Amino acid sequence: MQILDGKKAAQAIRDELKIEVAQLAAEGKKIPHLAAILVGNNGASETYVAAKVKACDEAGFLSTLIRMEADTPEIKLLEQIEKLNNDPDVDGILVQLPLPAHIREENVINTIDPEKDVDGFHPVNIGKMVQGVPAYIPATPHGIMLLLEHFKIDTKGKHAVVVGRSNIVGRPMSILLSANTNPGNCTVTVCHSRTPDIKFHTLQADIIVAAIGKPEFITADMVKEGAIIIDVGINRIESTETKSGYRLVGDVDFDNVAPKCSYITPVPGGVGLMTICALMKNTLLARGK
Ligand code: NAP
Repeated sequence: MQILDGKKAAQAIRDELKIEVAQLAAEGKKIPHLAAILVGNNGASETYVAAKVKACDEAGFLSTLIRMEADTPEIKLLEQIEKLNNDPDVDGILVQLPLPAHIREENVINTIDPEKDVDGFHPVNIGKMVQGVPAYIPATPHGIMLLLEHFKIDTKGKHAVVVGRSNIVGRPMSILLSANTNPGNCTVTVCHSRTPDIKFHTLQADIIVAAIGKPEFITADMVKEGAIIIDVGINRIESTETKSGYRLVGDVDFDNVAPKCSYITPVPGGVGLMTICALMKNTLLARGK
C-alpha cells in the first residue's frame, strides 16, 4: 500500500508555480492575482480561505481577501463580483461556499465572469469541461487529477466508482475520469443517496472516489483488494485527544481500508492540499486570458 501524499505532490506543484511567477516578475510581466470573497464567518470557510490566500502569497501570487458581513444582501455581493469582473488587475475570482441561506448560490456563480471563474463552477466552464475543450476545471476534481498524474497512476480501462454526485466534486469527477485523457479513460459508476446497494458497486471498483460528507462511510468490507482510494471527505468529529476538541476524518475508514488497497489518500494531507494547487493553476491560466 502506498500513501498518495498530497503534501508532497502539492509542494512539487507549488514549487513549479513559484518559479513560473518569479519568471513573470523578472520579465516585468503581470503577476497572477486572485480575489477571494468570504461572506460571514463560518469557521471551516475561514480556514479554507486563509489556506488559499496563504498558498497564493507563498508562491508569489497577488491575493486580495474581501470580507462581507453574514447579513450582506445578495445584490451587494453581486455588485462586488461585478466590480472584480471589471477590474483588469484581478485575474481570478473565488467566492467561498457555502453562502448564508438568503443568498442564492446559483446567482452568485452565474455572475462571475467565466474568464475569471477559477473555481470552475460557472455553467460555461462546466459545459466546456463536459465537451472536453479547455476550461477551468472545478478545483477539487482538478486537484485529484493532478494527484493521479503526479503519482503516475494508470487509470486507463479501470472501473472507477464515484460516491457522491455534487456539482463541485462527484459529478465533475465522474466526467473527468471518463474522459479520453490521461489520467482518465475509466469506466465510471456514480453512486448517491438513492443508490440501493452501494457496497455492490464499490466492491467492483478499481478506483473509489468518496465524496459524501459522512465520516468513515466507506468501510473495509466495501473495498476490493488492491483498489485505489481517493478520499475527498473532510469531516470534523469530536475528539478528546486534541486541544480543539475535534479532529478531521475522511469519508473512508482509513485504518481498516488502507491495508487492503494499493494506494490511498490520507485526511488531512491528501485531496485538500491539491484543491488549492488546482485553484492556483487556474489563476495562473486566467492571467493569460
Ligand atoms: P454534498 O454537496 O453534500 O454532496 C454529497 C453527496 O454525497 C451527494 O451527492 C449525496 O447524495 C451523497 N450522499 C450523501 N449521503 C449519502 C449516503 N448515505 N449514501 C450515498 N451517497 C450519499 O458534498 P460535497 O460538497 O460534494 O462534499 C463531499 C465531502 O467532500 C464533504 O466532506 C466535504 O467537506 C468534502 N470536500 C472536500 C474538499 C477538499 O478540498 N478536500 C472540497 C470539497 C468538498 P444526493 O445527491 O443523493 O443527496
